[in-house]
Amino acid sequence: MTGETRVAVEACDANRAIEIADRVWWVGHYLEGDPFQCHVYLIEHGDNSVLFDPGSALTFAHTLRKVEQVTAFSNIRYFVCHHQDPDITGAMPLIDQMVCRDDAVVVTHWRAEALLKHYALKLPFWRVDTHDWRLDLGWRELEFVFTPYAHFPGAFVSFDRTTGTLFSSDLFGGFTEGFSLFAKDEAYFESLRPFHEHYMPSRDVLQHALNAIEKLPLAMIAPQHGSIIPGPLIDSIIKRLRHLDCGLFLMSRENTDIRRLMELNRALKDITQTMMAYRDFKDIAGSLTRIAGRLLPVDRLEFHTRIAERGYLHLTPENRYRGRLSNQVPALVAEIMALDREAWDRAERHLYRIFDPAPCGGTAIAVPLFSPDRGRADSVALLRLRSAVEEDDDLDEVIAQIEVPLQVAVERETIYRTLDLERQKFYETSIRDPLTDLFTRFYMEETMRRLMAIHDRDPNSAIGVILIDIDHFKSINDTYGHNQGDTVLKAVARCLLGAVRPGDLPVRLGGEEFAVFVIGTTLDALADQAERLRAGIAAARLGDPMRDCHVTASFGLALRRQHECLVDFMERADAALYAAKGGGRNRVCRAEL
Ligand code: GH3
Ligand code: MG
Ligand code: MG
Repeated sequence: MTGETRVAVEACDANRAIEIADRVWWVGHYLEGDPFQCHVYLIEHGDNSVLFDPGSALTFAHTLRKVEQVTAFSNIRYFVCHHQDPDITGAMPLIDQMVCRDDAVVVTHWRAEALLKHYALKLPFWRVDTHDWRLDLGWRELEFVFTPYAHFPGAFVSFDRTTGTLFSSDLFGGFTEGFSLFAKDEAYFESLRPFHEHYMPSRDVLQHALNAIEKLPLAMIAPQHGSIIPGPLIDSIIKRLRHLDCGLFLMSRENTDIRRLMELNRALKDITQTMMAYRDFKDIAGSLTRIAGRLLPVDRLEFHTRIAERGYLHLTPENRYRGRLSNQVPALVAEIMALDREAWDRAERHLYRIFDPAPCGGTAIAVPLFSPDRGRADSVALLRLRSAVEEDDDLDEVIAQIEVPLQVAVERETIYRTLDLERQKFYETSIRDPLTDLFTRFYMEETMRRLMAIHDRDPNSAIGVILIDIDHFKSINDTYGHNQGDTVLKAVARCLLGAVRPGDLPVRLGGEEFAVFVIGTTLDALADQAERLRAGIAAARLGDPMRDCHVTASFGLALRRQHECLVDFMERADAALYAAKGGGRNRVCRAEL
């Protein structure tokens, strides 16, 4: 096996036949400005010469001229057709007329013969599958390797063991700009990528072919499209091909823009990874927003989702995707949720696709997320946009691709939430939280109802709330484990219990979130109290193994407006807490009255 590239890479004169290995010649033709170059190769072997993928009628005159620079056309006995496409077989009727010898044959697979017979050639077929997949040329043997569906059912490739050259047909093909007979470096992979992602039907099909080929002692790969891959590049290119996602056109109805399809494909892959890597919906939504932002000018994502017997949850970045329960949704969202998939497909969908949702203003796209078992859109995603987008096929394409992952993300979250709500039902009946000994949310709501009624009658019985959320609690859990996390919750609760006055109501709202309700206070007094709590928590020390762990918390304050409902009141405090988080944590922020 010599396997050496015979020609200096730069010195290729596309007007002449080029010897690429011992008696192996490139006899193709460079089609100006066509990224889809079709190469023809010749093994010169006396009167047993072989022509691989003879080419199209467009270029055959050039190929013939180059063949004749190497050997007489009449010396060609074998015409190998790796598959049936016209870019390699279009010249066969011309060849058929020129061949005078009786022993010349078309070497192909039965599946290709079934199609090539329609050329009504005189030349007989010599089938690789009935000849043990090898062809003895006398002192030189060709081996054929079956590579089905890459890209044709009966596709195969040819291997010349003498030089280690693989005539790989569509495998290892690439799109090239200009004439570059040899791949220069690993960057050539980026020419291979779009070719394989869109031309090969699936990664499994590609793997199968690569597995078969990898066993061969490859010295050079001579594909039908793109550039020849010299020995040193082969391993790394095969390795990278193994990770490609193929079948790009599965994603496409009308889109023929391969780059856009690749972008879409990459986004989908990242979405899948997000769903596996994150559990917290806040993180999932954040990541989905970034990924969608690569395809559309998406600013933020929000969701409306129906929770059985509980109403609707509105998940937005402002409520950190914890959602706000209410018993109604915007009219347009309600309208979409009333439809099933069929009705939606029939509807004038563009009416819903792009709309101006009050009260935030700005453009948004409404994407109904149909539940596979219920058939209705139990959730609607709103993609709020920085700028308007064209309502074209590309938009439809992008939406069609992201709606399933969005649906799965929201449905999964809804299931968690429903379970949480169930759990809460039991929990709600208790007054004290068993872990921290603070009052429960249930008890707080009962108590607040009475206190708020008093405040509504008497403006002097002001009610203040201090909301508390431990900073980076998740990383405490992640670092020290859930049990130690619980110890921190208890320690923070002790700080709260130690600092409140007898009439105050310290509550564990859930997770690592707490509240202290204070009666008859002012915003300034509330701020002083919160500041003392903050400093107390920040100064508290834990025992081993958390001696080095400095726990802090962020605080949001609000004073209740007369007649304000509990949800609105708490939400103002929560917005202040959100500001405290945004301002760097371990601080107190207040909501103005
Ligand atoms: P931030 O500073 O933004 O508040 O970050 P964070 O990590 O504290 O915020 P996040 O709300 O994302 O994390 C809360 C974590 O609290 C997630 C959840 O696993 C954990 N958690 C909730 N309830 C409990 C509990 O009862 N015990 C323990 N150990 N962890 C809990
Ligand atoms: Mg939290
Ligand atoms: Mg927190």
